[in-house]
Amino acid sequence: MKVLFIASEMAPYAKTGGLGDVVGSLPKALRQIGVDARVVMPHYSLIHDCEYRFNYTFPRRQGDGEVSVSEGSVDGVPVYFLKSWPYFVDDGKIYTVWDWDTPRFIYFCQMAIGFAWELAQGRLDGGQTWWADVLHVQDWHTGLVPFLLHEARFNPGWQDMASVLTIHNMAFQGPQAGQWLNAEGISPRDLPALRWQEWRDNLLAIGIGYANKINTVSPNHALELHYPRFGEGLQDVIWARDRDFVGILNGIDADVFDPATDIHIAQNYTAENFREKRPANKLALQRDLGLTADPDIPLIGFVGRLTTQKGIDFLIPALYDILQREDVQFVGLGSGELEASFGKLGATFETRARTYLKYDFVMAQKIYAGADLMLVPSRYEPCGLTQIYALRYGCLPVVRETGGLVDTVENYDNDAAEEGTGFRFLFEEAGAVSGTLRWALDTYRHKRSAWERMQERGMRHDWGWEKSAALYLKLYEDAIAQKRAWRKGLQTL
Ligand code: ADP
Repeated sequence: MKVLFIASEMAPYAKTGGLGDVVGSLPKALRQIGVDARVVMPHYSLIHDCEYRFNYTFPRRQGDGEVSVSEGSVDGVPVYFLKSWPYFVDDGKIYTVWDWDTPRFIYFCQMAIGFAWELAQGRLDGGQTWWADVLHVQDWHTGLVPFLLHEARFNPGWQDMASVLTIHNMAFQGPQAGQWLNAEGISPRDLPALRWQEWRDNLLAIGIGYANKINTVSPNHALELHYPRFGEGLQDVIWARDRDFVGILNGIDADVFDPATDIHIAQNYTAENFREKRPANKLALQRDLGLTADPDIPLIGFVGRLTTQKGIDFLIPALYDILQREDVQFVGLGSGELEASFGKLGATFETRARTYLKYDFVMAQKIYAGADLMLVPSRYEPCGLTQIYALRYGCLPVVRETGGLVDTVENYDNDAAEEGTGFRFLFEEAGAVSGTLRWALDTYRHKRSAWERMQERGMRHDWGWEKSAALYLKLYEDAIAQKRAWRKGLQTL
């Protein structure tokens, strides 16, 4: 099985969130079960660690595109970078603005299809041809690829190649792309499921309409996407493709995110010895942050994007309440549109709170290893990785009951803690966060052994990719079978 991942991000080369983490770790897990998984992505100018391979041209209405291909690798996964004027030349940023990114990623989709063709012509691998069985595309940036592949379905070579789309975030869709699609001479996307104009011009909807199989990144979020609250207007397209749509929980790279070997933390520890060893990380973090170094003061953490999706707007008043009334410390790390009010929190509680408005991988690791609690109050969360990293590092998550947070965090049973790995709440309100935090703080102070058993359960759980990689393999097989059925006319799209 040969699978070409087509994506806008891949950790560690370029990452803004969970999509980058998944593309950075799932292909490796697939290779371990015999899938020849490779990745193609834009060659942003922030990527240097790669070698030039070859050039190719691909036809387009507005003049042929000239592409330069470089190659790198992540843990044995080949990664190809595509550079081409005018969109992927001097772009220090992964994402820019709607009216630049939309034509930019349409162009990337065209380049990527061209690249799949070049691989099939033996331009790499010492002249050996490499026909992908599946093009696995991610989010709206690559949503046009399944359509382009569908358009090529009568050409030999392309006719058996299937497509799979993974939805990491339904809120970003690449809407109103019509003018650029028309300018490129791309035929109308006239699938009945896309019958309304706006969906024919919506790159994510096009992907959902034309991919052979579609998934999102947790089973619970797959249910949610059928309804307007989470479907962001595309719920009808999801219903139309319901038979081909599943939820597969994200895994993590358990070799990279392992407190036993993590080189960024003060003291390594395991599920066997965390009771004795983990506190050294908390003390080191408190010292680094210039807070009182005291193992008994609960240290609450947050790592993530500072946006309304992440519930930052109601998290901030909850933190004011808790920091005013309780003997606790807080450390927050993030960037995004709500930086100003988040930053103020650190300035207000000088001795007890620290807020860092930046992206910092090493600091994130120190927080996972040192904090007692990790806040994830998201309004919606397709899967969420922050809480998984926290669980793996023995930091108990406080989460809103939504999406993948429900699939990954088991609520504390409030008793002897024979169940539970964290604390959950439902309402998108400051009172729900502060009330749940008080419950967690009470547990920390008065039921320490129940707390430690929760830590242990979270740490012992298998968060790796093995189970989910097998589910992706099955999805690829189903996608191929469906493509063949379409071709034979047994089933029509
Ligand atoms: P999303 O993809 O919606 O941003 P996820 O929880 O799926 O959310 O993934 C977020 C990832 O980005 C996690 O790996 C988290 O540790 C990381 N991250 C987010 N913000 C920061 C930051 N400011 N510094 C370091 N890591 C961050």
